[in-house]
Amino acid sequence: MTKFVTAPTLIDRFGRTVDYLRISITDRCDFRCVYCMAEEMTFLPRAQILSLEEIFILAQAFVELGVKKIRITGGEPLVRKGALELLTKLGHLKGLSELVITTNGSQLVSMAKDLKAAGVKRINISLDTLNIEKFKEITRTGDLKQVLKGIQVAKAVGFERIKINAVILKNRNHLEVNDLVQFAINNELDISFIEEMPLGIVSQHDRAEAYYSSDLILKDITRKYNLVPTLEKTGGPSTYHQLLGTKSRVGFISPHSHNFCSQCNRVRLTVEGRLLLCLGNEHSVDLKAVLREHPNDMALLKQTIIDAMLIKPETHEFNINEQPVILRYMNMTGG
Ligand code: SAM
Ligand code: SF4
Repeated sequence: MTKFVTAPTLIDRFGRTVDYLRISITDRCDFRCVYCMAEEMTFLPRAQILSLEEIFILAQAFVELGVKKIRITGGEPLVRKGALELLTKLGHLKGLSELVITTNGSQLVSMAKDLKAAGVKRINISLDTLNIEKFKEITRTGDLKQVLKGIQVAKAVGFERIKINAVILKNRNHLEVNDLVQFAINNELDISFIEEMPLGIVSQHDRAEAYYSSDLILKDITRKYNLVPTLEKTGGPSTYHQLLGTKSRVGFISPHSHNFCSQCNRVRLTVEGRLLLCLGNEHSVDLKAVLREHPNDMALLKQTIIDAMLIKPETHEFNINEQPVILRYMNMTGG
């Protein structure tokens, strides 16, 4: 390991600059979405997960190394006690341009206003269906009405941008693509459609059978709406299309059909403090160990992060036709 921190920028072996960090602040969630978790989940004991103070120190180290955008996610980030305090502290980090979160929307009625005040600029809200029964089937424990109310409260609060995220599964919600698009248009929101990724073992469907590609979704949408591709990027893997005559854009996150790895600019911090260099691989570095064994050594922490860039893989290894090689669920990782 090199001794001194030399560059304020994180660059990997393939010349990609990493300036986006996604942090899973809890593995817990009030929902049990069929593509994300098993029905019976065992969550991690408190000692094994990062404290909020540790998360803040790590975020600070990344920002000092050139990270400009942080997404707080989970599990459901808003069910972690102290989430708002952490967000407020992160919102004041000098050098951080964008603080954003991904949420299932269940807590937005009571928390949206405070999130905005904490400095959260944009939020992604997951919504896979507008049908109450189907919503229950997909999330197992979620309440659609509460999420829809939460979306309205978030709109009223005035975030810069609200985006709906929808994971589309064949024979579960693939016939609802255009209803979701219309919902986005009516509410002047953006929407991204996500191809399911094979993380963890799920019991309620066969992932290969449930695969519904972004191209099929695009075809469904163009039957009813006029779309034009835009060159716009928001620092994430989505590619966007403008819905003509509306304020909404449609994004596609297509890990299977359109590999986006060559433009990858992000790394993830798992709830256990593992720096994960790629969502679809296990290459990681244990930052919690560095932090706990050398509590006040920011230089060592930063150097460890710089060195970790050397093991960032070139591309993910997803294959929906095989049993998942990656046994960790999305909630651990921070989707
Ligand atoms: N609980 C929050 C939520 O649902 O928005 C944040 C965490 S969740 C893991 C983040 C995003 O990952 C959600 O949009 C969810 O739909 C997506 N997701 C979860 N499991 C996935 C999988 N196996 N493949 C693709 N997307 C997945
Ligand atoms: Fe919870 Fe989000 Fe996973 Fe659904 S996708 S179980 S809401 S963490």
